[in-house]
Amino acid sequence: ASNAGNLIDICVERNPHMPCVSCVLPSGHHHTLTYAEVGRLSDAMAVFLREELKLNTNDVIAIQSLNMLAYPVVAFGAFKAGIKITNINPLYTPEETQHQLQDSKAKILFVVDLFGDKLDSAIKDTDVEKVFSLSLVDLFPTVKAGILKFAMKRVKKIIPEASVGFHGSLASILKIGNKHLSRGVDIPSYRKDVTLDDTLIYQYTGGTTGRSKGAELTHRNIVSNISQAKKKEEALAEETNETLLLVLPLYHVYALAVGMISGMYAGGHMVLVPVPRPLSNLKPVFETFDITILPGVNTLFLGLLEEEWFKAKPPTTLKYCYSGAAPLQTSIAQEWSALTNCKIFEGYGLTESTCMVATMPLDRDPKIGTCGKAAPGTELKVTDEAGNILPVGEAGELWVRGPQVMKGYLNQPEATQETIVDGWLKTGDVAVIDDEGYLKIVDRIKDMVIVSGFNVYPTEVEDALMMNAAIAEAAVVGVSDDHTGEKLIAYVIKADQNLTEQDVIDHCREHLTGYKVPKVVVMIDEMPKSPVGKVLRRELRDQAIRDFA
Ligand code: ATP
Repeated sequence: ASNAGNLIDICVERNPHMPCVSCVLPSGHHHTLTYAEVGRLSDAMAVFLREELKLNTNDVIAIQSLNMLAYPVVAFGAFKAGIKITNINPLYTPEETQHQLQDSKAKILFVVDLFGDKLDSAIKDTDVEKVFSLSLVDLFPTVKAGILKFAMKRVKKIIPEASVGFHGSLASILKIGNKHLSRGVDIPSYRKDVTLDDTLIYQYTGGTTGRSKGAELTHRNIVSNISQAKKKEEALAEETNETLLLVLPLYHVYALAVGMISGMYAGGHMVLVPVPRPLSNLKPVFETFDITILPGVNTLFLGLLEEEWFKAKPPTTLKYCYSGAAPLQTSIAQEWSALTNCKIFEGYGLTESTCMVATMPLDRDPKIGTCGKAAPGTELKVTDEAGNILPVGEAGELWVRGPQVMKGYLNQPEATQETIVDGWLKTGDVAVIDDEGYLKIVDRIKDMVIVSGFNVYPTEVEDALMMNAAIAEAAVVGVSDDHTGEKLIAYVIKADQNLTEQDVIDHCREHLTGYKVPKVVVMIDEMPKSPVGKVLRRELRDQAIRDFA
């Protein structure tokens, strides 16, 4: 495909009558759109953006949506119209939303109708000219008030300020789009001047280590990502009728690129879950659909393993589970495959590389504890601080080069220059590549702690902690210390109420060298996490600095 709009057309033409995307409400009600329907609806959206709103290829639209049917319609409509998009986390505060709108200069905002009066402050002093509301039940054929109320009750649990009230404006947009369509418009001509190197998505990074930055992902990035995923699918003999559970948020590049877009290219059926928490919301999903592929993160697998209903009746149809975005704990990988009879393949990527860097090994057996090998067409190197390549097996910063690497950070020429050197993306992650080419992520450079002159990677300590069955979750950070330079603080959630701080220290002594043993153990009830489920070590570090530095 020469651009992402053509790509969508190709997917639709290949499988018009197959199910493309379903959405399951917390009530268990669901609705499915076929590829042909997604094609027609996104055509109407493309026409609306170009003919009615008069947008052109330099314009940006912002989508702030849960995983729901409206999402692919708006996003693919923009792809077809040659218009750029930026995805905004619907859980953002008005200030965070405003920052991304200002930075991306979005002119139009499609927002899930949850924010009510907060919207005013979010779009203040931005270029936003028009706001359209999207609803959970958009494109559902009939909606009973009771279902809506039930859905909103669940939404309100995770977003307390959510307002009730839907405007159904996607329907009105599509009506106008269809009116223009009936006059006969040439949609591919909208993107005839779009090249593979034009930006398609301003994709903001996860914000795990600091304020999120806008990665400029091009049409080439997306298109190449898909052919890379294709090679993996061929190797794993995935079929064209796989059913993917997309519970990870589509505004994050993992679910969007590796889940939704690659899934479409493979002819899959994507099942969207708008409100995945509490995880009991997934029960009707597993009851209704024979899920075969589950892209997940460590937290999701861990969470499901703790659900009684899941343990009592684990799905039997799973063929491939993928984990990325954060380290997959070995104990969880083992427990998961014992319960579901399905292995977890770990991958590695970052927003700046359209999510894909290393992926599942191209043989069928994952090498546990690694993220597989470099994706097709991708070069990896592990370097010292001066950028020199280190011998095989030594840990250093991972650099990546390939067609999926972003153009740069929007409005941040200095950060771009520091991050991309001669086409190589410096990932900020410490990694080891073994003699067979398997990649192992050690940790983030920023999270490394130096105790008495020794480097300690919190992930290693967390792994050791998680081997203790009395520990449900653990995170480790470093703070300054008069004697050792820095010291380790472990935050632990108990699985067994009898567990004491001393038990935790004793367990560490048994499994780790002295300098890797935490000085302090703090029992907590909840881990701060990003919306994709990554532990926010920076928040714990701030707390540790307040309490122990
Ligand atoms: P920010 O860059 O704003 O701090 P972020 O790094 O979370 O946020 P993302 O692009 O969402 O932004 O995440 C990419 C990072 O996730 C990688 O740099 C790496 O640290 C981590 N990661 C991804 N996959 C894995 C994996 N399999 N194992 C360990 N870490 C991983």
